[in-house]
Amino acid sequence: MSLPFIDLKTQYRHLKGEIDARMQAVLDHGQFIMGPEVLELEEKLAEYVGVRHAIGVCDGTAALQIALMAIGLAPGDEVITTPFTFIATGEVVALLGGKPVFVDIDPDTYNLDPALIEAAITPRTRAIMPVSLYGQCADFDTINAIAQKHGLAVIEDGAQSFGATRHGRRSGALSTIGCTSFFPSKPLGCYGDGGAIFTDDDALAARMRQLRVHGQDTRYHHPLTGMNGRLDTLQAAVLLAKLPSFPEEVEARARIGARYSAYLEEVARVPRLAEGNTHVYAQYTLEVDDRTRVQQALQAAGIPTAVHYPIPLHRQPAFAHLGLEEGAFPVAESASRRVLSLPMHPFLDAATQDTVIAAVRQALA
Ligand SMILES: *Cc1c(COP(=O)(O)O)cnc(C)c1O
Repeated sequence: MSLPFIDLKTQYRHLKGEIDARMQAVLDHGQFIMGPEVLELEEKLAEYVGVRHAIGVCDGTAALQIALMAIGLAPGDEVITTPFTFIATGEVVALLGGKPVFVDIDPDTYNLDPALIEAAITPRTRAIMPVSLYGQCADFDTINAIAQKHGLAVIEDGAQSFGATRHGRRSGALSTIGCTSFFPSKPLGCYGDGGAIFTDDDALAARMRQLRVHGQDTRYHHPLTGMNGRLDTLQAAVLLAKLPSFPEEVEARARIGARYSAYLEEVARVPRLAEGNTHVYAQYTLEVDDRTRVQQALQAAGIPTAVHYPIPLHRQPAFAHLGLEEGAFPVAESASRRVLSLPMHPFLDAATQDTVIAAVRQALA
């Protein structure tokens, strides 16, 4: 017996009619690049997130890169971010010649610890890039206040938090620019790569729309050095078919996450929700002692697990040139040794979840 870590097939069975019809419409009209679905999706995403502008892009990494290009990140500029994230967050800074400046995380939320940010600000700092890890927003109230005081942009890496809220405002609408990913396994996923950028700033939005199409303003005229960052029309069609039921999926995610916690809080450290936050549980992640043994016991019981993430960014070979030793960010390092993600998706039924819960409790007994 083996159950899925993320179940995309059940979702497809539920939405097959809408998804097939939306994709067929694209095959029929044939506008595969920047077809009408892209604009329609952008309008619906902007409304859902609660911002003036949503810009569809080819993936979450491109969203982050275009956001940094739009604020004019130049070689040598510094961006304050978390070491406890997927590589893309730090990678885009380095790719543009910038320097990621890591700051340790809060042990409860795994997000940037705002109390440590000011000490990391230098005359070269241009932006703060918090990640809303696992599907819970970072402390944007405090981070935005620090950014405002020092004249910095705030760019949310909301690749895992689409649909989450902080004090009633949605992820993507909490900072100068918000970025998300529609990679298939993210809370809102397409059937390939996709992403989006959100902002209330008209000038930044216009710039990011140009950067997405090779810095072009009118056909074959390029005021900026941009990139090919467009979202495929077919992926926009898939997202349009999935968006109407997304709020229900967000509710299901919260319910399933809370149910895991109710049955597992005695045996492991379960996710903690900061005041004012909702959680979309892109990952449902525990902390356990002796992770390797627990993971092996669960594998033997047919329960797939994952580790998000086993090596913090400052210990990645790609960032060795930063010269950051083990011990530089103790909270992130401890989390990287202890976190373990369980099967999580909005179609996880109670009986299947009970199987996972029983196996986890037995593995930790
Ligand atoms: C998935 C992810 C990304 C990258 O998104 P892609 O669409 O795969 O490029 C960036 N940051 C975080 C935190 C992610 O989880």
